[in-house]
Amino acid sequence: MKAQPSASHYINGAYVEDDHGQSLEVIYPATGEIIAHLHSATPNIVERAIGAACAAQEKWAKLKPVERGRILRRAADILRERHAQLARLETLDTGRVIQETLADPAVAANAMEFFGGAVACFYGDYVDLGGPFGYVRREPLGVCVGIGAWNFPIQITAMKAAPALAMGNAIVFKPSENTPLSALALAEIFTEAGLPDGLFNVVQGFGDVGEALVSHEMVAKISVTGSVSTGRRASGLAASKLKHITMELGGKSPLIVFDDADVKNAVAGAMMANFYANGQVCSNGTRVFVQDGVRERFLEQLTERTKKVRIGDPLDPETQMGPLINKAQHRKVLGYIETGKAEGATLLCGGGIPRLQGFDCGLFVEPTIFADAKDSMTIAREEIFGPVMTVLSFRHEDDVIRRANDTEFGLAAGVFTCDLSRAHRVIAELQAGTCWINTYNRSPVELPFGGHKQSGIGRENALAALSHYSQLKSVYVETGNVVNPF
Ligand code: NDP
Repeated sequence: MKAQPSASHYINGAYVEDDHGQSLEVIYPATGEIIAHLHSATPNIVERAIGAACAAQEKWAKLKPVERGRILRRAADILRERHAQLARLETLDTGRVIQETLADPAVAANAMEFFGGAVACFYGDYVDLGGPFGYVRREPLGVCVGIGAWNFPIQITAMKAAPALAMGNAIVFKPSENTPLSALALAEIFTEAGLPDGLFNVVQGFGDVGEALVSHEMVAKISVTGSVSTGRRASGLAASKLKHITMELGGKSPLIVFDDADVKNAVAGAMMANFYANGQVCSNGTRVFVQDGVRERFLEQLTERTKKVRIGDPLDPETQMGPLINKAQHRKVLGYIETGKAEGATLLCGGGIPRLQGFDCGLFVEPTIFADAKDSMTIAREEIFGPVMTVLSFRHEDDVIRRANDTEFGLAAGVFTCDLSRAHRVIAELQAGTCWINTYNRSPVELPFGGHKQSGIGRENALAALSHYSQLKSVYVETGNVVNPF
């Protein structure tokens, strides 16, 4: 299985190679097969990408928003036409099952459509000053840098590129070194859609390339999707030059199931909140708090359904769960499972490596459920980023709110209850940027997405993202004589 792109980087509308860069092997996590060989960017590549972005941005910013939007909407059409091919590429790159990745190009297309349309009505303001007046222009920032994680590569790339480009910026994107392929495919699509050269550039590399981009003096804005530690490091570098930032970071989110919840839906929600993308989702509700009265029924149904999850060949449309991204993540997740057992949580199901014919080297982990967990346990405090659900019990609403908020993270939260008042009351108390009532992990482009506390700064999606890729200019217009005290 090969997925070799024409070259490692995409700069100024064309593929570019520099084989002096550190070698970067792309591995299909289901088999361990090397599917592409790339090179990490050298300083020369970084300079070329930023230089191309600087050169292209000014002219792009002068186009009418509706003209910029038209190109993004064309890119959306191509993404939809090519969804099967892109989904396969995403599966090879991430190991996520084709059942899931078939949805990803459409999510990227939604971002292109939404921002391509919305930007034309994302006006500044007119301010009546009683004779004189003011107006506020929304202007682009210039060259933006996007840095992506490996779980949803094409979605993450599109969620940064679409608002940045719509607002008149240029962007240099560095995918995770684990999943470098779909950003290149998106670059080709942008060129085909008519995006002028230099506005969307892809450079590959490890953390050092990310740092070089983040620190570059010509870069005005950084948007990182990654772990809290990477976010802190990148924010620190950006702060030293007062750059704009958006940080989409990790989480350990609570999902609260009250006694009066629809149990079937709550179980479905908890599974979505822990096993989708093989558990590698930043907003996952990995601390599932279940009220005492419903606990038994909930665990029974949850275990029964989880045992039926089909795990195996990611390219088989029937498969529901695939492998984890890389060996380090596999080791880490298995390590957390051992810690969960050692600290006294009850392993209800999973916990092991499934035996799958033809996938001996695959990085699979069974969907795993721990019950009887305590808040102090490692599995209830740290982000695992794998298919490991931790179920905790509670009796009273006040108590569960306090416990749900007892974490440095604040990315997401969910509540299952049929009591309308309670649903809104509890959500209002939860310290999280992205919340769900009676569902989990639905993130349409129309709603802002992002975290409170250590889970991030700024927002992706919705008009909020256009704000984060623009700056304001206030203009005072005098209609009379200049007031002069001298
Ligand atoms: P990492 O933080 O390890 O990496 C994220 C990106 O940052 C990668 O492209 C990485 O490059 C790059 N990077 C690493 N070090 C630096 C640095 N010093 N300066 C600039 N860039 C750097 O995260 P993962 O890729 O492992 O993704 C998992 C994490 O991402 C989890 O914590 C998860 O919760 C979070 N995440 C958050 C999301 C959100 O929207 N809030 C969505 C998805 C994931 P390289 O890979 O080459 O090291």
